[in-house]
Amino acid sequence: MMRIDVLTLFPEMCEGVFSTSILGKAREKGIVSLNTVNFRDFSGNKHNSVDDTPYGGGGGMVLKPDPIFAAVEHVLAASGKLERPRLAGEQADEADYVDKTYGDGALAQFSGGKVTAQAKPRIILMCPQGQTYNQQIAEELAQEEHLIFICGHYEGYDERIREHLVTDELSIGDYVLTGGELPALTVIDSIVRLQPGALGNETSAVTDSFSTGLLEYPHYTRPAEFRGWKVPEILLSGHHANIEVWRREQALLRTLERRPDLLETAELTMKDQAALKRLRERDTNKL
Ligand code: SAH
Repeated sequence: MMRIDVLTLFPEMCEGVFSTSILGKAREKGIVSLNTVNFRDFSGNKHNSVDDTPYGGGGGMVLKPDPIFAAVEHVLAASGKLERPRLAGEQADEADYVDKTYGDGALAQFSGGKVTAQAKPRIILMCPQGQTYNQQIAEELAQEEHLIFICGHYEGYDERIREHLVTDELSIGDYVLTGGELPALTVIDSIVRLQPGALGNETSAVTDSFSTGLLEYPHYTRPAEFRGWKVPEILLSGHHANIEVWRREQALLRTLERRPDLLETAELTMKDQAALKRLRERDTNKL
């Protein structure tokens, strides 16, 4: 079973999403274990503060490294990946991290304990400065056994979190939100629906937009005529081979019209190439 942990100051933002619809069902079916960890519980100070003013001055607050490292270590221990759990409230110090290259993919050596070699989790920092998320990354992450997401809120992160703890940094696009929860939930949703058995219809993830490198073809359902607008004749013909050809062409046409950039990397057959050539010519004839 895949395990996903989300480190957040607002676990209630995640819980609703985790227990609704396809994610809720995947959780019930035991396909995925979805957990939240409030890193405020690991503040290690009596005011429960998780942020502080930036060294060097300037506005805004910065998330402290301590609570986030401690919360990650708690998750590693709880999932059997760290031999010696850190005690609650135990201070992190330099010596705790003998090998500082965890973030660079090396096996971390924690004092008194080791991250076990098997199933080292990916530790993913949600931030606008990260790699822009896409379906290809979703498919890659969907293969992992354990993912840990770190969500910031309002403010920045202490750079040492980036340098010495995380394995990946992800952005969901070139815009800024108030917190990492919605971005993490976006990523998690796209990963969970790729797990075998998560979607009712096994084939539906295969023809999704982007999975094939193309945008998906148009869909129609009953009625065959709605307010005078008819469903394309071919879809009512019952001729499956012709319908497949039509759908492929529609996917090519839609991609050509809306996202021609995707055609440069899509896997295209000779037939696709010929169809595209025709579609392009039809376009120029129209002008
Ligand atoms: N000052 C920061 C932005 C902070 S936004 C900067 O310029 O980089 C507050 C938090 O929201 C971030 O820590 C991150 O977790 C989340 N966030 C905002 N926009 C995001 C995006 N496009 N993708 C992923 N996470 C985002």
